[in-house]
Amino acid sequence: MPNIHRLPMPLQEMYEWQHQGACANIDPAQFFSPDAERGVQKERREEAAKVICQDCPVIIRCRDHALSVQEPYGVWGGLSESDRREILATTPKR
Ligand code: SF4
Repeated sequence: MPNIHRLPMPLQEMYEWQHQGACANIDPAQFFSPDAERGVQKERREEAAKVICQDCPVIIRCRDHALSVQEPYGVWGGLSESDRREILATTPKR
């Protein structure tokens, strides 16, 4: 679960950027692990998702969101779950 105390207020404009994402019309399964996915299969899925993120017009906003609310699952802003854990582990608390 993301830290709900860090989520932005439930105003439409706070989330509109998500509709502009390169993933808006792509199956979410590309970005989120199915149960029990591990190893090479997970790495390949995450790398394919990151390729989509590279051309996304809202990548910075998406990445900032995921880091600020500490999204625990999925690829956000070109970062996997483990990428975000590494960044957050070495970043001073916000
Ligand atoms: S950066 Fe990636 S996850 Fe975020 S909106 Fe864009 S395509 Fe989707």
